[in-house]
Amino acid sequence: MSEVSEGVQVVDQVATGGEVELDGLKKKYGAVEAVRGVSLNIRRGEFLAILGPSGAGKTTLLNMLTGFEKPTSGAIRINGRDVARLAPHRRGIGVVFQHYALFKHMTVAQNVGFPLRMRRMPLREQRGHIQNALEMVKLEDYGTRFPDQLSGGQQQRVALARAIVFRPALLLMDEPLGALDKRLREHMRVEIKRLQRSLGATVIYVTHDQGEALTMADRVAVMNDGAVEQLGTPTDLYERPASAFVADFVGETNFFRGRSVLDADGRVRVVLDGDPSGNRREVDNDAALRPDRGVEVGVRPEQVSLLPVEGADPLAVPGTVSEVLYEGATALHVVETALGSLNARLSLKNVRETRWAVGDRVAVHWETHAARGYHVAG
Ligand code: ADP
Repeated sequence: MSEVSEGVQVVDQVATGGEVELDGLKKKYGAVEAVRGVSLNIRRGEFLAILGPSGAGKTTLLNMLTGFEKPTSGAIRINGRDVARLAPHRRGIGVVFQHYALFKHMTVAQNVGFPLRMRRMPLREQRGHIQNALEMVKLEDYGTRFPDQLSGGQQQRVALARAIVFRPALLLMDEPLGALDKRLREHMRVEIKRLQRSLGATVIYVTHDQGEALTMADRVAVMNDGAVEQLGTPTDLYERPASAFVADFVGETNFFRGRSVLDADGRVRVVLDGDPSGNRREVDNDAALRPDRGVEVGVRPEQVSLLPVEGADPLAVPGTVSEVLYEGATALHVVETALGSLNARLSLKNVRETRWAVGDRVAVHWETHAARGYHVAG
């Protein structure tokens, strides 16, 4: 098959919505293992976010997908075809970066048509595809403008149109909203979701912003130190973090140190360091804990309640409010206790002002289902 006809075929016959398989994908730079054997199956039409802090290996993983980096080992299959050793432009992947990388001397239409020219599509066929892509991002009347005549958000939409114009099997987005201001970022989240749904596109979206990952993705892969630490729906990650790292990175968590003990009823409970009650406390995921180990118990600030000391539950921990930060719909209370300093985020839904002030004595309480235990070394 000639290069020309193969290029045209990519545009005409491969619809968006490919199935992607990463199989034991590894990348070493000398002694540094940037990606340590990542295996993921991304379903047709799925929106997968790759979330992780700086240095987690997200960019390296993405570069192996696009073809800018060669894996040390492992396979990448798109619709069953191994692409790991294919040149970037033969993989059928559309890419959107944080910096839109538009060609300044080209019009919007020329920018969007660039991938089609690269694939040597005849000019008369290009027009329909370009117009279609511009309509998808609501810029159909902007084809003759130049990038510097557009706002940041419009430029990012041109970059999106350029990425989808050849109907790639897979859309990769690397922090695509990172350069936009907060309001526009939130608006563009909705726009990208709408576009993805109407195209039925498979999207891999790299971000260090947990808000973006939780709101946009069907599933999120949390990366840490070159590996996927947890793969799950946004609810899985938030409600049932698999590790202290995930609990800390996705949302906020109070951590209390303690030790696991095997109770007479055969269940593992936790005694927290410094707990004045000395109680054996239940955690929601006790089945995952082994006895007689160091444990961290995580509780989300919005799951913590502050009650009057008189008549409090025997499991409640006494404390003193040291800080009250008004947040609008909620107020964050910092409380000093024998377990350490902790945060309680209280809803102001039915009250105008919080009932607690700095210096108040309170009883800190949380329900068993809100507490999760994680083993720590030692
Ligand atoms: P992220 O995108 O999540 O911030 P990266 O993929 O950029 O993470 O980096 C993962 C790890 O690999 C880091 O420790 C980084 O320093 C290292 N790394 C990335 N690229 C190179 C390179 N070209 N040479 C050596 N080390 C690299």
